[in-house]
Amino acid sequence: MRDLSAGPRVLLKRLRELMAEPLEPQERLDRIVSQIASNMVAEVCSVYVLRSDGVLELYATEGLNKDSVHLAQLKMGQGLVGTIAASAQPLSLSDAQAHPAFRYLPETGEEIYHSFLGVPILRAGRSLGVLVVQNKAQRNYREDELEALETTAMVMAEMIATGELKKITRPGLELDLTRPVTIEGDSYSEGIGLGYVVLHEPRIVVTNLLNEDTDTELRRLAEAIGSLRLSIDDMLSRREVSMEGEHREVLETYRMFAHDQGWVRRMEEAIRNGLTAEAAVEKVQSDTKARMIRLTDPYLRERMHDFDDLANRLLRQLTGFSPHSAEHGFPTDAIIFARAMGAAELLDYPRENIRGLVLEDGAVTSHVVIVARAMGIAVVGQATGAVALAENGDAVIIDGDDAAVHIRPVPDLQKAYEEKVKLRARRQEQFRALRDVEPVTLDGEAIHLHMNAGLMVDLPQLEESGAEGIGLFRTELQFMIASTMPKGEEQEAFYRNVLRQSGGRPVTFRTLDIGGDKVLSYFRGHDEENPALGWRAIRLSLDRPGLLRIQLRALLKAASGGELRMMLPMVTQVDEIRAARELMQKEVQHISKFGHQLPKKLQFGAMLEVPALLWQLDELMQEVDFVSVGSNDLFQFTMAVDRGNARVADRFDVLSRPFLKILRDIARAGQRNNTPVTLCGEMAGKPLGAMALIGLGYRSVSMSPTAIGPIKAMLLGLNAGKLRALMDATLDDPKAPTSMRETLKNFAATHNISV
Ligand code: PEP
Ligand code: MG
Repeated sequence: MRDLSAGPRVLLKRLRELMAEPLEPQERLDRIVSQIASNMVAEVCSVYVLRSDGVLELYATEGLNKDSVHLAQLKMGQGLVGTIAASAQPLSLSDAQAHPAFRYLPETGEEIYHSFLGVPILRAGRSLGVLVVQNKAQRNYREDELEALETTAMVMAEMIATGELKKITRPGLELDLTRPVTIEGDSYSEGIGLGYVVLHEPRIVVTNLLNEDTDTELRRLAEAIGSLRLSIDDMLSRREVSMEGEHREVLETYRMFAHDQGWVRRMEEAIRNGLTAEAAVEKVQSDTKARMIRLTDPYLRERMHDFDDLANRLLRQLTGFSPHSAEHGFPTDAIIFARAMGAAELLDYPRENIRGLVLEDGAVTSHVVIVARAMGIAVVGQATGAVALAENGDAVIIDGDDAAVHIRPVPDLQKAYEEKVKLRARRQEQFRALRDVEPVTLDGEAIHLHMNAGLMVDLPQLEESGAEGIGLFRTELQFMIASTMPKGEEQEAFYRNVLRQSGGRPVTFRTLDIGGDKVLSYFRGHDEENPALGWRAIRLSLDRPGLLRIQLRALLKAASGGELRMMLPMVTQVDEIRAARELMQKEVQHISKFGHQLPKKLQFGAMLEVPALLWQLDELMQEVDFVSVGSNDLFQFTMAVDRGNARVADRFDVLSRPFLKILRDIARAGQRNNTPVTLCGEMAGKPLGAMALIGLGYRSVSMSPTAIGPIKAMLLGLNAGKLRALMDATLDDPKAPTSMRETLKNFAATHNISV
């Protein structure tokens, strides 16, 4: 019986020799196709390469009319070749002309060939071209022949990717690999960044494709898989993940996949066909990726991604690749591309070099996005396919304002963006010039502008932005980026540091707001159907008083001798504030008993985020020293729209009359009770939103630091009294449009207010 694996091995051996010979690229290609044809006993072997204009051009052929080389062409999706490239899937046909996609190219003289086997030339799941064999007789190609052709296609992919074919590309044309691509996503953080791609999980380039000895390679693969399995078992047995939780589930899935016989078998098969262990892993990975790109089911996509991650781990092991080794120079203007990323991983990069972050997944409220925004870098999320389309070091522009990513931009676009960046810088300069200007409206109303923060990286912005203080310090961020629960002393040291760096400016600490979308990998309750309405924030804190008391103690100690401002998130009933205050009293007693110095002044506040509090406004105002409106959550619960769900999040307007009336009621209750009211949700950082708030009676707002300049510029030209009169008249007018956005815009335009 014929040894089925001998054929491909001989072919790959010949290819290895051909690759090593000092040949001109056309010559090399010609010899490769003729070698494949003779090895596979096919009358025809052709290679088509994808150009940047979406056309597949015949680059070499054995068997078809040689004059048609570089002339015969098919569009992506056109004919059998175009179908293979577009679907990134092979096609094996005994009667090619009967296939509905068949398209006859007269210049090639291919009408006499009936059987057709074509495979995509793939790199990271993306088609760079198509490799085809054809036979006159009607026949069915065997599985091992398909495998052999796919393996050969990997060699071709390498030739294309290394730029070898550039020399034989007709002038004025380019290959697809260097094609400019624009990806539309969602804007997660505004700003524009020009720079170079840094793949968060760098693609490991396997250059050693063809094996010398199958057994050695099989052994190498088995060893690598063995230690991969061990390392997963090891991670699973570690204490931090030994409890139930998401992290554990992921690892369990990994373990299951690492033992997946089908996956391992496909890699072994590729080695038997002549590849090295690493090339075999890459081949199977690329096939999986090609399938993954077309999957729409998020669950299946996630599972395919798991395979992808595992393959990367294997590749790292087999090639000894370390992503952070010094030889991989880090650009001074880096735009990080990742499928998904944890907040801590982002903080591992040298901050001053990062100009942007592109995520294939993610949500605007995900932790990494909150951190990126705090760092002031542009973020585009939901950028489907970005990682596969970009190569490390490619030029790229991220436009967080228009939610677009331009990979390998054409020079005109590059120039346009350089102008845009200059313009932005000039505006920033103007805002910076306002830093020391008092935020007072035209009619003399002083407005207190505070900034939101949550990490040490935010603190320098206090000085730079000219904010009066920190109106919302999200303490949960320290917890979110840690891998284990921060101890009391760590919390205390952190708060102390924050207070020191804020140099006497007031800081309002919010107690832990975990739960909902803010998940701690090491602390997880039960699965919840509706986490936003579930066990979170103050509810969780009151049920786990130990946790809250540790935090309160850390805050009290950190602020000893000074002022401590703190507030509770997601309060639903006033008695929750009383319960938390009791815990606070216990901590105060505890601290005094042990002779620690207490804060000189304690300001105890609550966030207003749950609509139920609207019917307890006077009681609430009497109970606390200040109230801070969390408009993100208040809007979410009032309008019943999930703030993290792009489908509905923008369906209703924060500037709609019903919501503005709620905000006005809160401001009035504050005035009536002499309780300071502030607002720290996203709307405070939008000039039109902040303008509306001033019109409603708000005199204090807190926002992301980059918004302070634009908001100040807006209010310096605003007559608050005039706006208030307009808003009062319009809000109560049942005939006025539901959204006040246009009315407010017109007001700003007629009064020359910069919004
Ligand atoms: C809010 O809900 O408006 C708020 C400021 O809190 P967070 O965004 O952290 O939920
Ligand atoms: Mg909130």
